[in-house]
Amino acid sequence: MTTTTSPSLPIYLDYAATTPVDARAADVMQRYLTVDQLFANPASRSHMLGWQAEQVVEQARRQVADTIGADPREIVWTSGATEANNLALIGFMRANRERGMHLVTSTIEHKAIVDTAKALESEGFEVTWLTPGRDGRTTPEQLRQAMRDDTALVSLMAVNNELGSINDIAALAEVAHEFGAAFHTDAAQAVGRIPLDVVAQQIDLVSLSGHKTYGPKGIGALYVKRHPAIRVEALIHGGGHERGMRSGTLPTHQIAGMGEAFALMQQQHQDDQTHIAKLREQFLSGLKGVDGIIANSPTEHVVPNILNLAFEGVDGEALLMALRDVAVSTGSACNSASVDPSYVLLGIGTPRSLALSSLRFSFGRFTQGSDIDHALTLLRHAVSGLRATR
Ligand SMILES: *Cc1c(COP(=O)(O)O)cnc(C)c1O
Repeated sequence: MTTTTSPSLPIYLDYAATTPVDARAADVMQRYLTVDQLFANPASRSHMLGWQAEQVVEQARRQVADTIGADPREIVWTSGATEANNLALIGFMRANRERGMHLVTSTIEHKAIVDTAKALESEGFEVTWLTPGRDGRTTPEQLRQAMRDDTALVSLMAVNNELGSINDIAALAEVAHEFGAAFHTDAAQAVGRIPLDVVAQQIDLVSLSGHKTYGPKGIGALYVKRHPAIRVEALIHGGGHERGMRSGTLPTHQIAGMGEAFALMQQQHQDDQTHIAKLREQFLSGLKGVDGIIANSPTEHVVPNILNLAFEGVDGEALLMALRDVAVSTGSACNSASVDPSYVLLGIGTPRSLALSSLRFSFGRFTQGSDIDHALTLLRHAVSGLRATR
């Protein structure tokens, strides 16, 4: 039991940065490491142990494919969503030069898209950067305006990692296809939070991550549609693994862990979402008495587990310090080393001063009502303390 005065660990409200591995997935991971276990190389064709390891990898491939309505043969293992995004954008654009040199994406994508698109610009490709609305969403009309005859690919995220805003992926994919372009979505934050079905939503490429969905870090996947076939050029060359799209010995334990985590998510996403929606309500109603709180997250078309709030007149970094017993983030984990305001908040038109006063709270499967109560107490105290010393 944690007490209000001295918790043994900080209260973890940073699930959008990473989730803990579900103990059931961690158990599965332990089976593929040591000498008395199935540690063999899944690419070894010359002995039984290799085939058995391959079966483990293929079962996980089915589990991940099932989560998004894909065929297992459409799943390419990567080291995470960062690599999947690189493979989707660079691999697709290089392989489809004759289709066109133009890419459309948005300014509030994860850095793994933003920086990859910039790298493509320096390679001679052209990028149109869409500015989403205050609600963090890109509309199909906006996308239509940006489409050109030489647009080869559109990449727009399913769920924004700082705001929680949800894009209408099916409608956006439809616009891309009207113009003969392919559609990619970064769905790292979306699995188990919104419905994902590559067939119904007509998606050509999907990036996935293990560790945003209670699986391990260092593993992810890219869905690459087979009918009609989407062509992607490899970025990592070697033994020709993953049908030539991504070489490298497959990490059986990581893959099995991600597979199990995704299967668990499929079983319990409704329970998770109900639980988390209650926590969000509890958190918001607990802040009703505090003046000068502005929600950066939209109220509609938003996942319940991410809540981005601005505290007027309070410096976000100072608030982070004052809240040392609560693990939260001022932006995405990737830019927390710098004092620049979040480019995502600026990207949706948040004034600089408010962006610098903002924190992202994100909840998850293992967050408890008592964690929220405790965090609220600390937060109210910290905000009024910082405002008093202004
Ligand atoms: C975390 C995250 C990534 C990066 O995933 P890794 O598996 O850590 O490389 C990419 N996009 C979004 C939206 C994310 O939240």
